[in-house]
Amino acid sequence: MKDETLEKVIDERKRWLEWKNIRPLREALASLPQLKEVEVELGDWVRLTSPRADEAFKRRIEAVAKMMKPWRKGPFDLFGVRIDSEWRSDKKFNLLRPYLDLEGKRVADVGCNNGYYMFRMLAMRPASVLGVDPSPLFKTQFDLINRYLRSDRLRYEMLGIEHMRLFADMFDTIFCLGVLYHRSDPVVALKSLKQSLKKGGELFLDTFYIEGEEPVCLVPESTYSKIGNIHFVPTIPALEHWCKKAGFTGFEVLETVRTGIDEQRKTPWIDGESLEDFLDPEDPAKTVEGYPAPRRVYIKAYRK
Ligand code: SAH
Repeated sequence: MKDETLEKVIDERKRWLEWKNIRPLREALASLPQLKEVEVELGDWVRLTSPRADEAFKRRIEAVAKMMKPWRKGPFDLFGVRIDSEWRSDKKFNLLRPYLDLEGKRVADVGCNNGYYMFRMLAMRPASVLGVDPSPLFKTQFDLINRYLRSDRLRYEMLGIEHMRLFADMFDTIFCLGVLYHRSDPVVALKSLKQSLKKGGELFLDTFYIEGEEPVCLVPESTYSKIGNIHFVPTIPALEHWCKKAGFTGFEVLETVRTGIDEQRKTPWIDGESLEDFLDPEDPAKTVEGYPAPRRVYIKAYRK
């Protein structure tokens, strides 16, 4: 990664939008008509309305949105098309909301998926929000929404947490939600986040954790709650040590929660299974693999 520059990576990854599973979605998106008089409502459902959106338009939006399944994060209401995503992401956003002051800030959301939180953040009047996520599918979902929401304060790049260090000293506030357990080297990942923060800048992060006082980790043999590539599930003291090693200070636990089926569940906007299939039917305190059921910790820390 030594001679990597942001421009080069961004440029190379533009080609990901040409993948054969993505290209038809891009074409469908480009064929959608523009619309005037769009109103934006940034509540738990991110809602777009327009007096110009007739039934035919609504049917086209619905057809294109369905091509873009699975919708993991949301919910969105696009001109009456209700995209009830697998996750009720409003729960996570509302949990963090009392801790946020984004007015005038330069913000990044790392692992932003389709940008649900980015849209919600707009109501807090940040100077700008950069979302990064390496998925061309989720970028395409973002582009569908922002085609009509049309915020010029939002930017989306198909980058990963590993590239954040290339934005040296750039952000006041960084969100990294639901990403860290996917990294095989969490300390390196946290360092990359730290490098992209201004000195004194703040990080909001959530991750799965296990209960315990010792600074140790669960290392799932293969899947955890049927999710692949979960490398480490730390105790809270272990997470704090990672943050310290990466150069963060002022580690603060904001909330701990157990994910319930009111937050993650199967809807028509995903195919396949959801949380209820990931827990042991005999003992919902355990995952199907026999590990402790998913709990999340939300923390805040500062760049030294
Ligand atoms: N932040 C959202 C989404 C979490 S799901 C939330 O908390 O609800 C995890 C996301 O991480 C997915 O959108 C996935 O595409 C993204 N991701 C995968 N690899 C990544 C990487 N290297 N860097 C950042 N995000 C990554």
